[in-house]
Order: sequence, then structure tokens, then C-alpha cells
Amino acid sequence: MGPGGDHLCGYRSRMQRIGIIGGMSWESTTEYCRLLNLGVRERLGGLHSARLLLATVDFAPIVQLQQAGDWDAAGEALAVEARALEAGGADLVLIAANTMHLVFDQVAAAVSIPVLHIGDVLAAAVKAAGLTRVGLLATKYTMELDFYRDRLASHGVEALIPDAADRTELQRIIFDELCHGLVTDTSRERLLETARNLLDSGAEGIVLGCTELELSIRAEHLAAPLFPTTALHCEAALDRAFT
Ligand code: GLU
Repeated sequence: MGPGGDHLCGYRSRMQRIGIIGGMSWESTTEYCRLLNLGVRERLGGLHSARLLLATVDFAPIVQLQQAGDWDAAGEALAVEARALEAGGADLVLIAANTMHLVFDQVAAAVSIPVLHIGDVLAAAVKAAGLTRVGLLATKYTMELDFYRDRLASHGVEALIPDAADRTELQRIIFDELCHGLVTDTSRERLLETARNLLDSGAEGIVLGCTELELSIRAEHLAAPLFPTTALHCEAALDRAFT
């Protein structure tokens, strides 16, 4: 099905339909929807809006699987959603969380439509900024397990991670606050302090490698290049949707 070609009623659109596997957490999925629609407005103007297909999971059982390290089961849960998006007519799929890119291969193998890897998008942005070493703020899974840093390394981008105390605090802020929609000045300052530690250790820029972090930190908060993965993922998806 091409852009808009699946309707016989006179509806025509120039863009492809973007499928989102969301709900991880829904606070950031809302941001995906907002940014994708803003991006379409910027590109087309008027009353144009994004063609989206949304499959949101119940996050609590996914978190339990993460904590248990049962990534196969978590991957299968997302693969089910990816198949539903493909069956529903999505032209491409986004996994709207950095952490769950640990199961990217399982999800990508479940469908014949492209799944746009957030790490590939991020690495391209870092390289386009002329940088090769970044500080990574993310969940403990994304920071400590190899999958994410290895993906960046495959593109020639090195990711530095915070020390153990900062990682523990990051995990707490993400799961106990941001995933509940709670954004506080105190936690923002703590996140910025962690970012500044990474810059002092040689990072040339800071990656917001968790899709909720953009709800707290914005470019004006930090005097260094910032790489917000939710916004970058959305922009890359729109570039695809309009090709
Ligand atoms: N949305 C977050 C991320 O980008 C964390 C939630 C999760 O663990 O999936 O990694």
C-alpha cells in the first residue's frame, strides 16, 4: 500500500503511515505523537497531520520482564504489536523506547516492513554534528548492557556512561518520576549534574537516551550539544514517511 493509496473514498495523502509501538511509557508515546504531528505541520502546513497507527502495550508487565531479564518474552510481546501494525497497514515501525531496542532484531524479524532503529538515527545525528564521543543518559539497561553502546560503536560513535551512583539515580528518576509524568526542578538539576560529569570526562555532547528525558531536559539547559532521541527518531521517521 502506498501513501494514502488504501482509501477509495477520495482521501489522498502524500505521506506513509508510521506505526508506533508505544506505552513504554505512555508519557513519551504522547510526545512521539505530538512531535510527529508538529513535524507534518512544519512540512506541509495547513491542517495536515501525521498518519499514525499506534499500538501501546501495558507497560507494567514489560517492566517486570525487564527486571527479570526475560528479554525473549519482552521481545515476543513487541513482535506481536509489530505484526498488528503491519497488518493494520503501517509502512514502517518505531519502537518508542531506547531500552526495548535490546529486542530490535526479534521485532524486525517479525515483520516485512522497516523498523527504524533509534540508535542508527542517533549515531547519524552525532556524526552529522562532527562528534564521535558522547555521554549517555538512559535507563540502566541501555547504559550497562552492551546492545546500545555496541550499536553506536558500529557507526564509530563512542558512548560514555555515568558512574554507578549517577546511574542508580537516573534509573530512579526515569521509572519513579518521568514515567509517571512527574517533572521536577530538583531531578532536572540532578540529571544536568550527571551530564556535566560526563562532559568533564571527555564527552563532546549528551544523549538523552531514554524517551522520557526530553520531558525534563531541553537544549537551553545545557551548554553542550544535546541529542534528544525521541525528537531525532520522529524526524527520521518523517523523512522516511515522505520519501
Ligand atoms: N522510555 C524509556 C527508554 O527510552 C524507558 C522505558 C523502558 O524501559 O522501556 O528507554
